[in-house]
Amino acid sequence: MTGLWLALFFLLGATVGSFINVVADRLPEGKSIISPPSHCPGCQQGLSAKDVIPIFSYLWLKGRCRYCGITIPRRLFWVELGTAILFAFLYGHYGLNWELAIVAFYCCLFIVLLLIDLEHNILPNKIVYPAVIFAIVIAALGSIFGFEPRDIADTGFRLWIVDATIGGGIGFGLLLLPALFYRGGMGWGDIKLAALIGLVTGFPLVLPAMFLAIVSGGLTAAILLLLKLKNRKDAIPFGPFLSLAAMATLFWGSNLLNWLSENVAPTL
Ligand SMILES: [Zn+2]
Repeated sequence: MTGLWLALFFLLGATVGSFINVVADRLPEGKSIISPPSHCPGCQQGLSAKDVIPIFSYLWLKGRCRYCGITIPRRLFWVELGTAILFAFLYGHYGLNWELAIVAFYCCLFIVLLLIDLEHNILPNKIVYPAVIFAIVIAALGSIFGFEPRDIADTGFRLWIVDATIGGGIGFGLLLLPALFYRGGMGWGDIKLAALIGLVTGFPLVLPAMFLAIVSGGLTAAILLLLKLKNRKDAIPFGPFLSLAAMATLFWGSNLLNWLSENVAPTL
Protein backbone atom coordinates (compact mmCIF):
# COMPACT_ATOMS: atom_id res chain seq x y z
CA MET A 1 0.00 0.00 0.00
CA THR A 2 2.82 2.37 0.84
CA GLY A 3 4.06 2.31 -2.74
CA LEU A 4 0.64 3.30 -4.01
CA TRP A 5 0.44 6.18 -1.53
CA LEU A 6 3.94 7.33 -2.50
CA ALA A 7 2.90 7.34 -6.15
CA LEU A 8 -0.28 9.24 -5.30
CA PHE A 9 1.66 11.87 -3.37
CA PHE A 10 4.15 12.14 -6.22
CA LEU A 11 1.29 12.89 -8.63
CA LEU A 12 -0.35 15.28 -6.16
CA GLY A 13 3.01 17.05 -5.77
CA ALA A 14 3.36 17.35 -9.55
CA THR A 15 -0.08 18.99 -9.75
CA VAL A 16 0.66 21.33 -6.86
CA GLY A 17 4.04 22.14 -8.46
CA SER A 18 2.27 23.17 -11.63
CA PHE A 19 0.10 25.54 -9.56
CA ILE A 20 3.22 26.88 -7.79
CA ASN A 21 4.61 27.73 -11.25
CA VAL A 22 1.45 29.62 -12.08
CA VAL A 23 1.61 31.60 -8.81
CA ALA A 24 5.33 32.37 -9.23
CA ASP A 25 4.74 33.54 -12.82
CA ARG A 26 1.63 35.62 -12.31
CA LEU A 27 1.63 37.00 -8.78
CA PRO A 28 4.60 39.37 -9.26
CA GLU A 29 2.87 40.71 -12.39
CA GLY A 30 -0.39 41.26 -10.54
CA LYS A 31 -2.29 38.75 -12.69
CA SER A 32 -4.99 36.40 -11.44
CA ILE A 33 -3.64 33.07 -10.23
CA ILE A 34 -7.00 31.37 -10.66
CA SER A 35 -7.89 32.03 -14.27
CA PRO A 36 -6.99 31.20 -16.92
CA PRO A 37 -5.59 27.78 -15.94
CA SER A 38 -2.02 26.77 -16.90
CA HIS A 39 -1.33 27.48 -20.54
CA CYS A 40 1.54 27.58 -22.99
CA PRO A 41 3.43 30.90 -22.78
CA GLY A 42 3.73 30.88 -26.59
CA CYS A 43 0.36 29.98 -28.07
CA GLN A 44 -1.82 30.32 -24.92
CA GLN A 45 -3.13 26.80 -25.58
CA GLY A 46 -4.38 25.32 -22.31
CA LEU A 47 -3.12 21.98 -21.05
CA SER A 48 -5.22 19.17 -22.45
CA ALA A 49 -6.04 15.78 -20.98
CA LYS A 50 -2.85 14.47 -22.62
CA ASP A 51 -0.86 16.78 -20.36
CA VAL A 52 -2.47 15.87 -17.03
CA ILE A 53 0.98 15.10 -15.75
CA PRO A 54 3.07 17.77 -17.44
CA ILE A 55 6.36 16.24 -16.19
CA PHE A 56 5.90 13.27 -18.49
CA SER A 57 4.67 15.21 -21.48
CA TYR A 58 7.56 17.63 -20.99
CA LEU A 59 10.05 14.76 -21.27
CA TRP A 60 8.13 13.14 -24.10
CA LEU A 61 7.97 16.35 -26.13
CA LYS A 62 11.57 17.28 -25.19
CA GLY A 63 10.55 20.51 -23.48
CA ARG A 64 8.49 21.90 -26.34
CA CYS A 65 4.84 22.89 -26.58
CA ARG A 66 2.67 20.21 -28.20
CA TYR A 67 0.88 22.82 -30.28
CA CYS A 68 3.27 25.62 -31.28
CA GLY A 69 6.66 24.00 -30.63
CA ILE A 70 7.95 26.87 -28.48
CA THR A 71 10.56 25.87 -25.87
CA ILE A 72 8.88 25.73 -22.46
CA PRO A 73 10.95 27.31 -19.66
CA ARG A 74 12.90 24.61 -17.84
CA ARG A 75 11.91 25.98 -14.46
CA LEU A 76 8.34 24.75 -15.00
CA PHE A 77 9.63 21.21 -15.33
CA TRP A 78 12.05 21.31 -12.40
CA VAL A 79 9.55 22.85 -10.02
CA GLU A 80 6.96 20.21 -10.88
CA LEU A 81 9.43 17.38 -10.54
CA GLY A 82 10.90 18.86 -7.35
CA THR A 83 7.49 19.32 -5.74
CA ALA A 84 6.48 15.79 -6.77
CA ILE A 85 9.58 14.31 -5.13
CA LEU A 86 9.11 16.55 -2.09
CA PHE A 87 5.51 15.42 -1.58
CA ALA A 88 6.50 11.75 -1.81
CA PHE A 89 9.31 12.44 0.68
CA LEU A 90 6.93 14.26 3.04
CA TYR A 91 4.48 11.38 2.96
CA GLY A 92 7.34 8.98 3.77
CA HIS A 93 8.55 11.26 6.58
CA TYR A 94 5.27 12.09 8.32
CA GLY A 95 2.73 9.50 7.21
CA LEU A 96 -0.86 10.44 6.50
CA ASN A 97 -1.85 13.02 9.12
CA TRP A 98 -2.48 16.72 9.73
CA GLU A 99 1.24 17.30 10.33
CA LEU A 100 1.85 16.30 6.71
CA ALA A 101 -0.75 18.86 5.58
CA ILE A 102 0.78 21.72 7.58
CA VAL A 103 4.36 21.01 6.56
CA ALA A 104 3.39 20.49 2.90
CA PHE A 105 1.55 23.82 2.94
CA TYR A 106 4.54 25.67 4.40
CA CYS A 107 6.90 24.00 1.91
CA CYS A 108 4.76 25.21 -1.01
CA LEU A 109 4.76 28.70 0.47
CA PHE A 110 8.55 28.71 0.80
CA ILE A 111 9.03 27.36 -2.74
CA VAL A 112 6.86 30.19 -4.15
CA LEU A 113 8.83 32.80 -2.18
CA LEU A 114 12.13 31.22 -3.26
CA LEU A 115 11.17 31.35 -6.96
CA ILE A 116 9.82 34.91 -6.86
CA ASP A 117 12.84 36.25 -4.97
CA LEU A 118 15.21 34.42 -7.33
CA GLU A 119 13.53 35.76 -10.46
CA HIS A 120 12.27 39.19 -9.36
CA ASN A 121 14.33 40.03 -6.29
CA ILE A 122 11.22 40.68 -4.20
CA LEU A 123 9.39 38.90 -1.41
CA PRO A 124 5.80 40.07 -2.00
CA ASN A 125 3.87 41.34 1.04
CA LYS A 126 0.82 39.87 -0.66
CA ILE A 127 2.20 36.44 0.29
CA VAL A 128 4.23 37.19 3.42
CA TYR A 129 1.52 39.05 5.40
CA PRO A 130 -1.25 36.47 5.00
CA ALA A 131 1.31 33.75 5.75
CA VAL A 132 2.26 35.50 9.01
CA ILE A 133 -1.40 35.62 10.02
CA PHE A 134 -1.88 31.98 9.06
CA ALA A 135 1.19 30.94 11.08
CA ILE A 136 -0.11 32.75 14.19
CA VAL A 137 -3.63 31.33 13.82
CA ILE A 138 -2.49 27.75 13.27
CA ALA A 139 -0.07 27.92 16.22
CA ALA A 140 -2.86 29.32 18.43
CA LEU A 141 -5.31 26.62 17.28
CA GLY A 142 -2.64 23.96 17.77
CA SER A 143 -2.07 25.21 21.31
CA ILE A 144 -5.79 25.19 22.10
CA PHE A 145 -6.59 21.81 20.58
CA GLY A 146 -3.30 20.16 21.47
CA PHE A 147 -1.72 19.39 18.12
CA GLU A 148 1.78 20.43 17.26
CA PRO A 149 4.36 19.30 14.68
CA ARG A 150 6.61 16.64 16.17
CA ASP A 151 9.91 18.47 15.86
CA ILE A 152 8.57 21.66 17.38
CA ALA A 153 6.89 19.80 20.24
CA ASP A 154 10.10 17.89 20.98
CA THR A 155 12.33 20.92 21.22
CA GLY A 156 10.18 23.84 22.34
CA PHE A 157 8.43 25.02 25.50
CA ARG A 158 4.91 24.10 26.54
CA LEU A 159 2.80 25.86 23.98
CA TRP A 160 3.23 26.10 20.26
CA ILE A 161 1.98 29.69 20.17
CA VAL A 162 4.59 30.70 22.77
CA ASP A 163 7.39 29.00 20.81
CA ALA A 164 6.10 30.58 17.62
CA THR A 165 5.96 34.11 19.03
CA ILE A 166 9.46 33.92 20.53
CA GLY A 167 10.76 32.35 17.29
CA GLY A 168 9.20 35.11 15.19
CA GLY A 169 10.79 37.77 17.39
CA ILE A 170 14.20 36.13 17.18
CA GLY A 171 14.04 35.71 13.40
CA PHE A 172 13.06 39.36 13.05
CA GLY A 173 15.76 40.58 15.44
CA LEU A 174 18.55 38.42 14.05
CA LEU A 175 18.17 39.86 10.57
CA LEU A 176 17.29 43.37 11.67
CA LEU A 177 20.73 43.85 13.24
CA PRO A 178 22.84 43.16 10.13
CA ALA A 179 20.36 45.15 8.04
CA LEU A 180 20.90 48.20 10.26
CA PHE A 181 24.68 47.94 10.06
CA TYR A 182 25.29 46.80 6.48
CA ARG A 183 23.14 48.86 4.22
CA GLY A 184 22.02 47.16 1.04
CA GLY A 185 22.91 43.68 2.30
CA MET A 186 19.55 42.74 3.71
CA GLY A 187 16.17 44.10 2.74
CA TRP A 188 12.92 44.50 4.65
CA GLY A 189 11.57 41.57 2.69
CA ASP A 190 14.28 39.32 4.15
CA ILE A 191 13.59 40.56 7.67
CA LYS A 192 9.86 39.91 7.33
CA LEU A 193 10.54 36.48 5.87
CA ALA A 194 12.87 35.66 8.78
CA ALA A 195 10.10 36.65 11.19
CA LEU A 196 7.68 34.38 9.31
CA ILE A 197 10.18 31.52 9.44
CA GLY A 198 10.61 32.04 13.18
CA LEU A 199 6.82 31.86 13.57
CA VAL A 200 6.70 28.65 11.54
CA THR A 201 9.63 26.81 13.11
CA GLY A 202 9.27 28.35 16.58
CA PHE A 203 11.91 28.71 19.24
CA PRO A 204 14.51 27.17 19.46
CA LEU A 205 14.36 25.80 15.89
CA VAL A 206 14.53 29.32 14.51
CA LEU A 207 18.22 29.24 15.52
CA PRO A 208 19.30 26.35 13.25
CA ALA A 209 17.07 27.82 10.50
CA MET A 210 18.86 31.19 10.62
CA PHE A 211 22.25 29.51 11.01
CA LEU A 212 21.67 27.41 7.88
CA ALA A 213 20.43 30.39 5.88
CA ILE A 214 23.32 32.66 6.82
CA VAL A 215 26.01 30.00 6.31
CA SER A 216 24.62 28.75 2.98
CA GLY A 217 23.96 32.28 1.72
CA GLY A 218 27.41 33.48 2.80
CA LEU A 219 29.20 30.51 1.26
CA THR A 220 27.28 30.80 -2.01
CA ALA A 221 28.01 34.53 -2.23
CA ALA A 222 31.70 33.89 -1.54
CA ILE A 223 31.89 31.19 -4.23
CA LEU A 224 30.06 33.35 -6.80
CA LEU A 225 32.46 36.23 -6.08
CA LEU A 226 35.55 33.98 -6.22
CA LEU A 227 34.50 32.47 -9.54
CA LYS A 228 33.73 36.00 -10.74
CA LEU A 229 30.19 34.95 -11.67
CA LYS A 230 29.00 37.95 -9.66
CA ASN A 231 30.74 41.11 -8.55
CA ARG A 232 30.34 43.03 -5.31
CA LYS A 233 27.69 45.27 -6.78
CA ASP A 234 25.36 42.44 -7.74
CA ALA A 235 22.67 41.79 -5.20
CA ILE A 236 22.41 38.10 -4.40
CA PRO A 237 18.87 37.55 -3.05
CA PHE A 238 18.85 36.10 0.45
CA GLY A 239 15.22 34.93 0.38
CA PRO A 240 15.99 31.65 -1.42
CA PHE A 241 18.50 30.67 1.28
CA LEU A 242 16.05 31.58 4.02
CA SER A 243 13.34 29.53 2.30
CA LEU A 244 15.54 26.46 1.81
CA ALA A 245 16.81 26.67 5.38
CA ALA A 246 13.23 26.89 6.66
CA MET A 247 12.24 23.74 4.77
CA ALA A 248 15.32 21.82 5.94
CA THR A 249 14.55 22.89 9.51
CA LEU A 250 10.95 21.67 9.21
CA PHE A 251 12.26 18.17 8.37
CA TRP A 252 15.46 17.89 10.40
CA GLY A 253 15.24 20.77 12.86
CA SER A 254 15.80 18.86 16.10
CA ASN A 255 18.76 16.92 14.61
CA LEU A 256 20.28 20.17 13.43
CA LEU A 257 19.73 21.76 16.81
CA ASN A 258 21.51 18.86 18.54
CA TRP A 259 24.40 19.08 16.13
CA LEU A 260 24.69 22.84 16.61
CA SER A 261 24.61 22.65 20.39
CA GLU A 262 27.30 19.96 20.39
CA ASN A 263 29.62 21.33 17.71
CA VAL A 264 29.06 25.02 17.15
CA ALA A 265 27.80 26.44 20.46
CA PRO A 266 30.90 25.41 22.48
CA THR A 267 33.17 27.29 20.08
CA LEU A 268 31.23 30.55 20.48
ZN1 LIG B 1 2.35 26.57 -27.38
